[in-house]
Order: sequence, then C-alpha cells, then structure tokens
Amino acid sequence: MYDLIIIGSGPAGMTAAIYAARREMKTLIIGKELGGQVIWASEIENYPGFKSISNYDLISKMSEQVKALGVEIKTDEVQKIEKNEDGNFSLFTSKDKLEAKTVLLAIGLSPRRLAIPGEQEFSGKGVSYCANCDGPFYKNKNVAVVGGGNSALDAAEVLSKIAKQVYLIHRRDEFRGFEALLDEVKNKTNIELLLNSEIKEITGANKVEKIKVLNIQTQTEREVAVDGVFIEVGRIASTDIIADLAERDEKNQILVDEKFMTKTPGLFAAGDVVRGEFKQITIACGQATIAALAAYQYLQLKQGKSGMVFDRAKH
Ligand code: NAP
Repeated sequence: MYDLIIIGSGPAGMTAAIYAARREMKTLIIGKELGGQVIWASEIENYPGFKSISNYDLISKMSEQVKALGVEIKTDEVQKIEKNEDGNFSLFTSKDKLEAKTVLLAIGLSPRRLAIPGEQEFSGKGVSYCANCDGPFYKNKNVAVVGGGNSALDAAEVLSKIAKQVYLIHRRDEFRGFEALLDEVKNKTNIELLLNSEIKEITGANKVEKIKVLNIQTQTEREVAVDGVFIEVGRIASTDIIADLAERDEKNQILVDEKFMTKTPGLFAAGDVVRGEFKQITIACGQATIAALAAYQYLQLKQGKSGMVFDRAKH
C-alpha cells in the first residue's frame, strides 16, 4: 500500500514526489516515458536556477533527486483506477495491481493525431510526434512537418539543420507562431511552405515513403516523397481513465479545487492536464507542490491528526 501513487514522470510528478517523500509518504511514480512532455522540448531557458538547460539534463537532475529520496520510478501505463469502499485506490497496469491511499494524476498532454490513413500504421516507422527526439534519424533526408503553431515552426527549424529538405504543411495561409520564429523558418532555403494544404494519406511499403497533399484552395493533389512525417498539430488531454472520478471541461482537462483535488477525495491532479490557460513547467511544479502537500494533509486528517503539513516534515 502506497501513501501516494503519482501517475506521470514529468516535472509535475517529480516535484510532487520530492514533497511527498520529504513528508515520509511511501511514494511511487508510474510514467510512460521519463520526463513526460519535457522530452519534446530542446533547451529550456525559463526554469529558475538554469540560464539554459537541455531537456535531458533537467529531467535527469530531477529523477536523481527523486530517487535519492527513496522514491521508486516505474515505466508503465496505468490503464484503470478504481476507488474502493475503504477510501483507498486500486490502480491497474498491464502487469500489476497497485494500491494507494492517494493518487496524483500528472500525465500532461498527449499529441493530437491527424487521424489519416497511414498515420497509425507508420507510427515509429517514419511518423513522429517529436522532432527533437527523432530528428537525428533524418540526416540528409526529406521530411514533412504538419501544423501551423510554434511547435510546427520549431520542428521545421530544428529539422532544417539536419534534413536535406523540409516541407512545412499548414492548412491555412497564416501561422499562429512567434514572428521571429516564422521569419527564421521563411529564411531557410531548405524549408518549402505548403500552405492551404492538408496531408490526406501517408504511404509506403515498410516505412514512410510518400505523402498525398491536397491544396484545399485549388483542390489539386500532389505526391511528395518523404522519409519522415512530423505531426505537430497541438496537444490534447487524454483523461478517459478518470472519467468517472473527476469533472472535466470541454477539452477533457481536469477540474480541481484550490488544493488540486478532484471531486473524488484523495484523487489529485496537477500540471498541464488540469484546466488552465497557461502551460509551463514552473506552473506544473507549483501545482504539484500544492497537490502533494494537500495529499499529505488529507491523510493526516483521515488519521485524526492535526493536518499541519509542516509539523513533522523535513522541510
Ligand atoms: P497550437 O498553437 O494549438 O497549434 C496547432 C496547429 O496545428 C495550428 O496551426 C492548427 O491549425 C493546426 N492543427 C490542429 N489540428 C489540425 C488538424 N487536424 N490538421 C491540420 N492542422 C491542425 O499548438 P502547438 O504549436 O503545439 O503549441 C502549443 C502551445 O505551446 C502554444 O501556446 C505555443 O505557443 C507553445 N509553444 C511554445 C514554444 C516556444 O516557446 N518556443 C514552442 C512550441 C510550442 P489552425 O492554425 O488552422 O488552427
């Protein structure tokens, strides 16, 4: 029986683990991929204490700190959460059933899919949702980037330094990214903009070989030979796992109270998966701090104790 199981091993999950472990809560982190969404970033220049730090360095520093406090980190996916009659939770992964007195959901957001033929089939065989992770595999090759926000612009810029040719495909003729980044992209000789355009299909034998691109203004279709397709069309909250246990908004983001607790006592949520306009690492860490302290307080009160979060803690 854990005092706290944290689902998600990004900055929010790591921060919550630090606070929980320092309050001697038996804590487990379960995450699909160490670092969460941080693995999609490159250099991070707005995390206090580091003028600039790579995504890998930041997450490895966080996980070292967490492990030194005795927190276990498991790589796995929680598929089901149940609240039991005794008030505790059962969590089911493909392999295990785990028990916890409190649970924190810190799973961030997931990449939005295009839902076109070939996307799923070639996922990991040329279709990628992370230019920073997979970009190096495309040295001197031809790649397409889909999307019109900062993520797509950033991906196109990063890939232009590695690939021979980058096609940036956007469904409108205006981007919703930073002007400076857009200028950088427009100035690259190896980035071709395909505007008012949509990918209709990704094809190939065993890996991506071609894409069918439709110009929605002229209704003309073009086949483009590419080795990779980077899909950067925003992120969504994948929160069906707690559909019965928490209120959600129209974007499936979780609604919480001021202590980051959901409508289910003992079930907390923090970070990008929670409803909020601004999504930043520092915000996620701050929310996770509140959630971890609130989980500690929740257990203290349940045991008939004072509920003072700082009374016996090594803070
Ligand atoms: P975003 O700003 O929501 O942009 C998503 C883009 O994908 C939009 O251009 C949208 O088209 C397009 N799109 C959505 N669904 C599509 C579909 N089914 N088919 C084709 N295109 C589709 O998402 P984002 O670029 O991932 O950025 C998310 C947030 O992170 C933003 O606030 C962004 O500024 C921030 N960010 C910041 C940095 C940075 O600071 N360097 C880097 C990356 C991201 P429409 O334009 O037509 O809606």
